[in-house]
Amino acid sequence: MVIVVGSGIIGSWIAYLFAKAGFEVYVFEKSENAGDGISGRNSGVLHSGIYYDSTSLKSKLCFRGYELAVPFFEKNKIPFSICGKVITTGISDTLTEEKDKQNEIEKLFANGKSLGIPNLELKSNPGNYWKHVLGKSALWIPKTGIVDVPSYLKVLWQLGEEAGVKVLKNKKVVRENDEVFALDLQSNVKEEIEADIFVNACGLYSDELLISDSKGNDYEIRPNKGEYFRLNKQLPYETLVYPLPMKTSTALGVHYTFHLGGDAYAGPNSNWASSKEDYSINTQRSVYYESLRKTIDFYKEEDLSEGYVGLRPRLFLNGDAVKDFVIHKESNWIHLLGIESPGLTSSPAIAEEVVRMVG
Ligand SMILES: Cc1cc2nc3c(=O)[nH]c(=O)nc-3n(C[C@H](O)[C@H](O)[C@H](O)COP(=O)(O)OP(=O)(O)OC[C@H]3O[C@@H](n4cnc5c(N)ncnc54)[C@H](O)[C@@H]3O)c2cc1C
Repeated sequence: MVIVVGSGIIGSWIAYLFAKAGFEVYVFEKSENAGDGISGRNSGVLHSGIYYDSTSLKSKLCFRGYELAVPFFEKNKIPFSICGKVITTGISDTLTEEKDKQNEIEKLFANGKSLGIPNLELKSNPGNYWKHVLGKSALWIPKTGIVDVPSYLKVLWQLGEEAGVKVLKNKKVVRENDEVFALDLQSNVKEEIEADIFVNACGLYSDELLISDSKGNDYEIRPNKGEYFRLNKQLPYETLVYPLPMKTSTALGVHYTFHLGGDAYAGPNSNWASSKEDYSINTQRSVYYESLRKTIDFYKEEDLSEGYVGLRPRLFLNGDAVKDFVIHKESNWIHLLGIESPGLTSSPAIAEEVVRMVG
């Protein structure tokens, strides 16, 4: 019997694939509103994998995840669009910055080509191709899409249920030494639970179900805040527009994105949150606008209003930042750690990997 803890996109895919493979599967979810964690608060982008080193798990699982996701969306009629993405150098404040950005975009282009991402194009003067996009150079990546995440989760839960997955809500899983308990958050009753395999897919909270190994390795998840501002209109074409990724973190930079329902957003930025429940917007609109107007000249400051916040589960090992996904096996537990972007894209491949580990 398998117990999956957490019913976000990662736990739901894992539960579904285990059930399809013939296992008896239970999902324990502490929240009443499943999907309210990281999976319900992101950009909904299906990434090509261009940013990652070919040897990383992020690269391998993003590629495979994309490959599995698209036919899954088609088969299950989940709204999605392969709209492509423009990464622009944007406006630079100095000549040195401009040269630096040109180098960066060329490196990204070379990485994408070496990874075999199809039909990449490096273009000068992107404003000639995509009106309102600023900068001297831009990379066009046709292999990028967006998906309607609420529909995606709903279909996955439905398919899981049909395959036999049993979901128990309001049940928080806690570990005390060698014992595992489910705490019912409505009745406050705590019951011991047992399984052949436990899978920890708790997103921001997955460090709380870890036990330090004999070498004293200590994983910690720190919440990193990504704020979104809503835009009162969409660009005149349906394409994602990104700046170059941040050099100092794993964040991809404040970008233009749209949801299939018609909303448009700028986001997410990257700041440390005060807790794993801190969904407040702290950045002033004027500051936010300053970063957006370096890539797009379509909006005025008053076109922006506060949107929503997503929290990245930034992983640290003994105090050092870990940039890759970690799938960590410990006794009969499999822990999914640091599953930030491109976790949505990679989710079916992460699940495939976990099921394979159990064999
Ligand atoms: C701002 C932002 C933008 C992003 N944009 C993209 C993107 O465009 N494309 C992309 O590919 N990826 C993106 N990602 C990454 C992607 O959203 C995540 O990798 C993915 O949603 C993680 O899903 P999860 O199931 O691990 O976590 P969650 O969705 O948070 O699910 C974890 C679940 O576990 C439950 N839980 C926690 N602790 C317990 C416990 N002790 N007992 C029981 N239940 C528990 C929680 O209630 C929650 O429901 C983005 C992430 C962020 C933060």
